[in-house]
Order: sequence, then C-alpha cells, then structure tokens
Amino acid sequence: MSATLIDGKAFAEGLRGRVADAAKRFQADAGRAPGLVVVLVGEDPASSVYVRSKGKACREAGMESTEHRLPETASQEELIALVKSLNADDKVDGILVQLPLPSQIDDKAVIGTIDPAKDVDGFHVVNAGRLAVGEDALVPCTPLGCLMLLKDQLGDLTGMNAVVIGRSNIVGKPMAQLLLGESCTVTIAHSRTKDLPEVVRRADIVVAAVGRPEMVKGDWIKPGAVVIDVGINRVPAAEGKTRLVGDVAFDEAAAQASAITPVPGGVGPMTIAVLLRNTVVAARARLGLTPEVGL
Ligand code: NDP
Repeated sequence: MSATLIDGKAFAEGLRGRVADAAKRFQADAGRAPGLVVVLVGEDPASSVYVRSKGKACREAGMESTEHRLPETASQEELIALVKSLNADDKVDGILVQLPLPSQIDDKAVIGTIDPAKDVDGFHVVNAGRLAVGEDALVPCTPLGCLMLLKDQLGDLTGMNAVVIGRSNIVGKPMAQLLLGESCTVTIAHSRTKDLPEVVRRADIVVAAVGRPEMVKGDWIKPGAVVIDVGINRVPAAEGKTRLVGDVAFDEAAAQASAITPVPGGVGPMTIAVLLRNTVVAARARLGLTPEVGL
C-alpha cells in the first residue's frame, strides 16, 4: 500500500470535540442545550443501533437527545402528527426520522412535513434546492462528512476532476453538488453509465456510494487520485463470520491512490459527527444567533 490512510475516526473525534464546545456556547447564549429528536418507527435492529448511537453521541457532546418510538404498525397520519408537534416545539432544534420506514408510510410525505429549519438530515426538498442553487442549507451528513475529509486531505479542490459513483438523494446527488460548489469538474456515474472504469480513470477524486462490495477495482484508479469509499457492505468471512467491506477493492486501490478511506473507520464515523454539527448549526440559525465558524 502506498496511499495515505484517511482517518475518518480521528477526524470525527475532533469534529465532535468542536461541536461540544459549540454546544457550550449555545447553552450560554440560549440558556438551554441544543436539542435533537430522533424518531424511530418499528423494531428494525440496525435502525435501533443507529438511533442509540446517535442519542449517546448527542449526550456526550452536551446536547439534549430525545427518542420517540412508534410501533411498526403506526400510520402515516400518526407519524406526521408527531413530526408536526416537534416542529411546533421550540426546544427542538433538529428532527431526524430514521429511515427506512415501514411500507405503509410514504418517506417523502413525512420528510416533506419536517420544518426545513429543523431538517438536520438535509433530506427536505427545500434544503436539497438550497444546496443546488448555492444557498445556505442543511446538507446531508454523509456527503458533507466526505467533503470535510477531502478538504482536510487536499485543501483547495478547485479544478479537480471528481467522479461520484451513485446518484441517490442521500449520498450521490448532494455529494456532487458539494463538489461542484468547490469548483470541481463533476461527473455523476450510476448503474447505466457506459464504461465506468474509463470514467473513473479520469478522476482526481473518486467517491464511491454504490452499495456493491469491492466493485471499484485498483486498475480503475488514476495514480495519485484520492478515493472516498462510502459503501458499507457485510460479506461472508472465514468460519461462518462476516466482515465489513466498502464499494472499493481496498488493497488494489490503495496501491494506486495517494489517499484512501478505509472501511470501517473512514466515512462511517463522520456521519454521526456531522449530524451533531448540523444540530448545533440549526439551533443557532433558528434563534438568529451568529453562525459558528470552524464547524
Ligand atoms: P442507493 O442504493 O440509494 O444508491 C446506489 C447508487 O449506486 C444508485 O445511484 C445506483 O444507480 C448506483 N449503482 C448501483 N449499481 C451500480 C453499478 N453496477 N455501477 C454504477 N453504479 C451503480 O445507496 P445509497 O446512496 O443510500 O448508499 C450507497 C452505499 O453507501 C451503501 O453501501 C450504503 O450502505 C452506504 N452508506 C453509508 C453511509 C455511511 O454513513 N458511511 C451512509 C449512507 C449510505 P441507479 O441510480 O442507476 O440505480
């Protein structure tokens, strides 16, 4: 391996420390801690784990964290009524509805009900639109975390060729918008892209957000490129166990790249750290306080 390992875990710890300081300043300014509410519908074990870790991280950063649980059978109307009550609660700065939702509930209708000023996941169309036109927005946590790692590694990204593989609303599209905002020349690739290896070979920056284990091969990577692997895939390992791998064939790609994120320990830890960051940012904006710098 010749590439530098991009240590997302260490960067995320630093960011969480800065968020904790910002939470103290908010407490001093507002007389209360910034407050995040996470709503979980059903008992999906993976979602329960995410929700628990979000709550714990919030409390560790000196923020208020509340969890609302609705049963798997909850109706769309019940969930929307809960979201509306949270919109109206002045002590709630951030609302996160954990996805996926059960099939009887339309994600878009629920996310569209969240007050955009409290939409710390950045999934509301108002925030997606603001990001697209270059206005201040609450930006989805995972792609914003990827951008932070890239800027930390490379500094100014102006003029670089960036290829984002994946066009989901939660990762690929906002990632591409963020890179465009940094004046990169951006290509968005997806399942219908022709000759993906050739497209990726032109990239100074590769962001893989596909959900296919080790799909991006070493010989797709331009020598010296920086590789951000968003993928989290569980694959079979020895002795009936499983292990986590990304969307990039790590060892091969690390032999070509100048820097690369590992899985786990790369992008993963950034997501929750940015969620905390977005909550403090949303809290200050709602109260008309001066924005934090350096977050
Ligand atoms: P989606 O399934 O919503 O999107 C996957 C994208 O990959 C789609 O745009 C799809 O194209 C594209 N794609 C699928 N197959 C291919 C292919 N063979 N060649 C090129 N493109 C392809 O996934 P998400 O964006 O939600 O997540 C992507 C990955 O990131 C997953 O592994 C997920 O677990 C991980 N993730 C990690 C997070 C973290 O915190 N680290 C947070 C969020 C996600 P098309 O649109 O044409 O179907």
